Amino acid sequence: MEKKRIVTGDRPTGRLHIGHYFGSLKNRVEMQNTGEYDPYILVADVQALTDNFNNPEKVRKNVREVVMDYLSVGIDPEKTTIYIQSMLPEVAELTVFYSNLVTIARLERNPTVKTEIAQKRELFGESVTYGFLGYPVSQAADITALEGKIVPVGEDQLPLIEQCREIVRKFNSIYGEVLVEPEAVLSKEKRIKGLDGNEKMGKSLGNAIYLSDSEEEVNKKVMSAVTDPNRIKKDDLGNPDICMVSYYHNLFTDKDEYKTVCEECRAGKRGCVACKKQLAKNINKTLEPIREKRKYYEERPELVDEILIKGTEKARETAKETMKKVKKAMKLDYFE
Ligand code: SF4
Repeated sequence: MEKKRIVTGDRPTGRLHIGHYFGSLKNRVEMQNTGEYDPYILVADVQALTDNFNNPEKVRKNVREVVMDYLSVGIDPEKTTIYIQSMLPEVAELTVFYSNLVTIARLERNPTVKTEIAQKRELFGESVTYGFLGYPVSQAADITALEGKIVPVGEDQLPLIEQCREIVRKFNSIYGEVLVEPEAVLSKEKRIKGLDGNEKMGKSLGNAIYLSDSEEEVNKKVMSAVTDPNRIKKDDLGNPDICMVSYYHNLFTDKDEYKTVCEECRAGKRGCVACKKQLAKNINKTLEPIREKRKYYEERPELVDEILIKGTEKARETAKETMKKVKKAMKLDYFE
C-alpha cells in the first residue's frame, strides 16, 4: 500500500518547548512510527524571516536547534525526511505562480493571518508586509511542492490549509489536474497553556519550559508557576482547577498520583511548594531521555548537518518533479 505523504514544519525562531511537544511533536513521532505515512518536516526558515527579516542570525542559529529538538524527541531521519525550506528554490517559484491565484482581500480575511498580524503590531505597526500577508501562499507551495496529502494541524491552523486547497483547486481548474489537494487532519494533541496561565506559551512571555532546559531551569520555572491565589496557608482549602501546577501535573503525573494531588489540595492537606517540587521531578523524568539524546547530537553537529543535507536533497528531487509538471501545465516549459 502506498504510504500517505505528510508535510509539516516549524518556523525556526527559537528552541521548541513542551507546548510544541504536546501540540505536534508527539503526534508526529506516533504517525511516523505507524509505518503508514511518508512524513516530511520542513524547517521553515523563509517563513521565519517573514516576521524576523531584520534578524537573520536568529533564524539561522535556530535551524539546527529545532532539528536537534526533533531528533531528541524521537523523530527518526530514517523514517522522516527533514529539510530546509530555503534550499528548495522550487518553493519560491511556486509561491510566485500561486500569487496570481489568490486575492489580497482573501489573504486579509484569513483568520489565522488576521490573529497573527494583531499579535505582531509591534513589528508591523499599522501596515503589514507583503511577505507576511502572503505566507499562506508560500505555505501552499511548501505542501504542494512535496505533493503532501495530509497536513496534521491544530484547529487554529485550519484556515491555512483551506487557503492551500483553494489555490490547488484554482490552479487545477485553469491549468489542468496537476497539483495534489491536501487534507487537513486535526491533530489529537492539544494546545498547552503557559506556566502563568496564558493561552500562549513562548519565549517573549517567559512562561515556557523548553525541551532542552536543564533540571535546574525546570525546577526554577516550576517554582514560578501560578497557583490558586486564594491559598495562603497550607491548610487553606484549594482549587486545583484554577492552578497551573495542577494543570501541568495532569500532563506529567500518572493518573492515580494526579488524583491524590487534587484531593489533597481540595482538603488543604498539601503545600504548594511540595506540590511544585513533585511536579518538577515528574517533568524532569520526562525530559531526561530527551536531554540525553539532544546532548548526543550537540556533541556531533556533523551528524545534524548530514541529516539535513540528505533530507533536503531528497525533498528537492520531489520538488523538481512537481515543478516540471507545473511548468508544462503553465506553458513555461521552454526548450524542453
Ligand atoms: Fe496548586 Fe498544588 Fe497548591 Fe493545590 S496544592 S493550589 S494543586 S500547587
